[in-house]
Amino acid sequence: ALTAGIVGLPNVGKSTLFNAITQAGAESANYPFCTIDPNVGVVEVPDDRLNKLTELVQPKKTVPTTFEFTDIAGIVKGASKGEGLGNKFLSHIREVDAICQVVRCFEDENITHVSGKVNPIDDIEVINLELILADLESVEKRIGRVEKLAKQKDKDAVVEFDALQKLKEAFEADKPARTVEFTEEEQKYVKALHLLTIKPVLYVANVSEDDVADPSGNPYVQMVKEFAAKEDAEVIVICAKIEEEISELEGEEKEMFLSELGIAESGLDQLIRAAYSLLGLATYFTAGVQEVRAWTFRTGMKAPQCAGVIHSDFEKGFIRAETVSYEDLLAAGNMVAAKEAGKVRLEGKEYVVKDGDVMHFRFNV
Ligand code: GDP
Repeated sequence: ALTAGIVGLPNVGKSTLFNAITQAGAESANYPFCTIDPNVGVVEVPDDRLNKLTELVQPKKTVPTTFEFTDIAGIVKGASKGEGLGNKFLSHIREVDAICQVVRCFEDENITHVSGKVNPIDDIEVINLELILADLESVEKRIGRVEKLAKQKDKDAVVEFDALQKLKEAFEADKPARTVEFTEEEQKYVKALHLLTIKPVLYVANVSEDDVADPSGNPYVQMVKEFAAKEDAEVIVICAKIEEEISELEGEEKEMFLSELGIAESGLDQLIRAAYSLLGLATYFTAGVQEVRAWTFRTGMKAPQCAGVIHSDFEKGFIRAETVSYEDLLAAGNMVAAKEAGKVRLEGKEYVVKDGDVMHFRFNV
């Protein structure tokens, strides 16, 4: 499964957020470098469509789809030089598919900031720079290998060398690899480098309890938004502390607490959905009387592959998929009515599944 790693400098609220994620509620400590082993937290992907389908079908049970976050502790200045925990940190980042960078946007004189004062842009740059330096090293190593061949006009080597030069220039200007454009040919070589700064990023602005309902007055949030806009990255504003409290509530209790706070959706729910789509993930549904269920697939996957998410036999023996969009099914009121209205399609092997499709697979056993 694809996973998003949670990173950030010490004391920005990562553990607090991760506690909310795992609902473990372990006490967070007010000093840096407390944990180093990566932890995985599994969360349900909030999806109102699943609730609506449940009302419509009245199944015996409803099963949401899930998503994994990995807690990556231990970033410090100098990580790219491989000092202490730094190396471990970078190798953990290498294993995740996207990065959620938590930045501190709350003031609290009781909580030490590693560089002495709250400055989210400095914080972002410290982390980004470590990742860029590690990538620069990978690229320089590779340049050493292909430069000679490229000078001899070896065709493949020339393409790769050009890509490496583009990357090197970007890194030397403190720009991450994800901001560089490559030709299709070059992309193959770039992929093989397994760069850290090519991974998609979103920023999590951690604000105080007072700012969560209306973060527009928080200047740090504005700074982060301006910075992120330059990279086309998304910003999710949360209060990690409150998320910890929310994570202990469910259903009506949760709704009531949220409305008391004056927010429509918990920050964690927003983060889950944002990370999910950052990774190019989407959801289809199965809706039978036994079970209404959400399933995760990668955008672009065809019907047989999507069937394989449920069971490999479904993929192997795939014949076709009865498919109706969530909107059409909801408008029709039930499956029979949707069929009568001509909204249920029989899709074959080449059908590219869309987010929100309600599917029933036919397969040979
Ligand atoms: P980490 O080192 O990044 O994992 O940071 P922690 O999650 O341990 O948080 C460091 C300190 O900041 C703890 O004392 C938290 O209680 C506090 N903290 C985290 N999030 C918030 C927040 O949203 N508001 C306030 N006031 N304090 C927070």
